[in-house]
Amino acid sequence: MSLFQGLTFLTTVNDLKALPPEGIEVAFAGRSNAGKSSAINTLANHTRLAYVSKTPGRTQHINYFDFGAERRLVDLPGYGYAAVPEAVRRHWQGLLGKYLESRPNLIGLVLIMDSRRPLTDLDRVMLEFFLPTGKPVHCVLTKSDKLNNQEKVLALRGVKDEFKNNPQITVQLFSSLKKQGVAEVENVIGGWFDSVQQPSESLEPMDGE
Ligand code: GDP
Repeated sequence: MSLFQGLTFLTTVNDLKALPPEGIEVAFAGRSNAGKSSAINTLANHTRLAYVSKTPGRTQHINYFDFGAERRLVDLPGYGYAAVPEAVRRHWQGLLGKYLESRPNLIGLVLIMDSRRPLTDLDRVMLEFFLPTGKPVHCVLTKSDKLNNQEKVLALRGVKDEFKNNPQITVQLFSSLKKQGVAEVENVIGGWFDSVQQPSESLEPMDGE
């Protein structure tokens, strides 16, 4: 079974202190309306696993999904929605930054960006928090069905060129509408999980064995 086919909802948390202590996780981050919920639903082949919001920026909690074997997908709150009061926005951006720079369970970041407007100022702020950790970032340029072939090449090349000296960052095109780019995301995330030493079951024989 492919990695995402078994994805199930685990829990919602509203506070960094409530994050589960166990497991390893890959986080999905992006501006409100970038297409993050749609991408998660498309990857999981599930129409309503992550909630596609009618009101962007309304949901400001952290949703945990489970791949099994203590591997998780973390759906972070979308950032940058203008109608959210400034103080609330700042508060959440601060929490996101803290999560990205200091969460030990986090092994990689998937940055969802609209392929027509990648690398906005806030996307760069998120990268500034995360890149010093040395962990990998996969940029997913979504809504690629809205671009013609030439625009696709330019969008991909623009982001790749910017990070050409940083092997920590990879980039791909994606379309939830056309279900394009699914296998590539799976390969990258699967590779991250495989490269991390799984917390081993007790190697000691159980009492009485
Ligand atoms: P989120 O706020 O980042 O979770 O974004 P959503 O997943 O809620 O998507 C925001 C809007 O973009 C919705 O109207 C989606 O239908 C639309 N959308 C998302 N992904 C795609 C895509 O790949 N192609 C197209 N054409 N529209 C998309």
